[in-house]
Amino acid sequence: MSWARKILRVDLTKGTCTAEPLNMQWARDYIGSRGLATKYFASEVDPKVDPLSPQNKIIWATGPLTGTMASTGGRYVVVTKGLLTGAIACSNSGGHWGAELKMAGWDMIVFEGRSPKPVYLYVENDSAQLLDADWLWGKSVWETEPAIQAKHQDEQVRVSCIGRAGETGCLFAAVVNDLHRAAGRSGVGAVMGSKNLKAIAVRGTKGVGNVRDPVAFMKAVDAGKKVLASHPVTSQGLPKYGTQVLMNVINEIGALPTRNHREVQFEGAKNISGEAMHEPRKSDGKPNLVTNQACFGCTIACGRISKMDEGHFTVKNDPKYWGASGGLEYEAAWALGAANGVNDLEALTYANYVCNEQGMDPITFGATVGAVMELYDLGVLTKEKVGIEAKFGSAETLAFLAQATAKGEGFGKELALGSRRLCAKYGHPDLSMSVKGQEFPAYDSRGIQGMGLAYATANRGACHLRGYTVASEVLGIPVKTDPLVTEGKPALVKAFQDATAVFDSAGICLFTSFAWSLADVQPQLQAACSEEYTMEELALAGERIWNLERDFNNRAGFTAKDDTLPKRLTTEPAKTGPAKGKVNGLAEMLPEYYKLRGWDEKGQLKPETRARLKL
Ligand code: SF4
Repeated sequence: MSWARKILRVDLTKGTCTAEPLNMQWARDYIGSRGLATKYFASEVDPKVDPLSPQNKIIWATGPLTGTMASTGGRYVVVTKGLLTGAIACSNSGGHWGAELKMAGWDMIVFEGRSPKPVYLYVENDSAQLLDADWLWGKSVWETEPAIQAKHQDEQVRVSCIGRAGETGCLFAAVVNDLHRAAGRSGVGAVMGSKNLKAIAVRGTKGVGNVRDPVAFMKAVDAGKKVLASHPVTSQGLPKYGTQVLMNVINEIGALPTRNHREVQFEGAKNISGEAMHEPRKSDGKPNLVTNQACFGCTIACGRISKMDEGHFTVKNDPKYWGASGGLEYEAAWALGAANGVNDLEALTYANYVCNEQGMDPITFGATVGAVMELYDLGVLTKEKVGIEAKFGSAETLAFLAQATAKGEGFGKELALGSRRLCAKYGHPDLSMSVKGQEFPAYDSRGIQGMGLAYATANRGACHLRGYTVASEVLGIPVKTDPLVTEGKPALVKAFQDATAVFDSAGICLFTSFAWSLADVQPQLQAACSEEYTMEELALAGERIWNLERDFNNRAGFTAKDDTLPKRLTTEPAKTGPAKGKVNGLAEMLPEYYKLRGWDEKGQLKPETRARLKL
């Protein structure tokens, strides 16, 4: 079956931990992880709840393939009502924590209420208890994990926790596990912090031996691994360069948002690319990249482990940053670099370390720095206000603001609000490059038209991991489409969104989808689960999960007006590159998308859509 069939419910107000059986009908219909946790959440929480109130809940969940031999089967999600957006938030992470929870015998943990004092949850197989975390409060992620392992005298304990950003109310605080793997987006760490929950420490020794048909499962798993091993992206590009393989590619097609989306190509892209991470530095002759690294069970190994130049101005007096640690992924390198015009690879690595160390989303952080730099450029913000000159391209400013924001100090408190609130506060709401309050990732939708629709309709705010049409529009996966046209994009976006919901819900990494289609996932799920899954049923489950999230947002107060883009992207044409002269054609795509979705013109699910999807 591969579901553990058991969930843990933790009442933080009362301090109790209770086991209950998994709702197997829901497991069948929503698969697991993202889908199943959202089903529980949407069934138990009023969509209009204040994200900071004790009535908001927060769920850690695994999928049926989490902890199994399936490649990349180490994923887990954190689901809550997001503080940054007010929408459903589902943030996904790799590393080893998810597999450890499954091996302890749990599918998910539902937290409700709010603890009167700092606590952490300690799970050891069937046993779960809330323990005092006064002694951990104020510690970074990098301090918290080893401190908990030392207390329990077990280096195998896996820890999912917040750093100072989550404690100080940074609206884009992340939940981090294994020191540098993060459920990074939508501010799930801020909700965790608001509940006085510092960490979840897990030790599981039961294994995951409960797949339905072990022989068929291993056959399907082996076949899937062979596909990953033979595809150039998953066997060469990602292991060698990580997602940073994209930096030069996206810059060349004129879709690399630069200086808060004022431009679409960055003259410093080569300096901050995956290729640059391999090159010996001029300063000390060593490369930034030390090695690649795999999450639990992953045969791709796209993770980056970097080591900074110890003489770099950001760290020369701070040896704690001299060790090897989680390096730059593409989205972080873009947000910390091109979005601000900063081309200093070491400074980007430092800012990324700080984001991991204190639990902060580098995409929203970097994009918000971009907005700050534009406000400074316009004379709206001053050196006195920010605490430092904030010119585009300043690595010193990036490093300064990373520390200030992560610790909630000085102007960092304002930056911690994210770009939407900050730009509104200073009278320029249009300069926030965000949708539903969440900042864009690293693709300019004037040069990749489908991404404009994907961003505008993403249920957790602007996001590349909900409908990654870049795969088709740029990389030709599974088929090449023209990135500069809007025709056909509504169907493409819908197909990517629904399939992604299945990958996420199964408990595997979305990066497998560079090589896998649902046809590669289906035999693995089919052999693992006690339920039958045909291709049609899986496709329907993906659509059901998407609409469940949408329905939650609608009931929270979101309308068709929120399916929009900042006017810069629809009125200011790209200045250079293949997309020169183009704006995003969202208005041309949205009506057809609604029709394909079975929504009315207000973006609400039609009754027949609800009936078809059993919602
Ligand atoms: S592909 Fe990368 S992010 Fe995904 S599971 Fe493997 S190492 Fe982790």
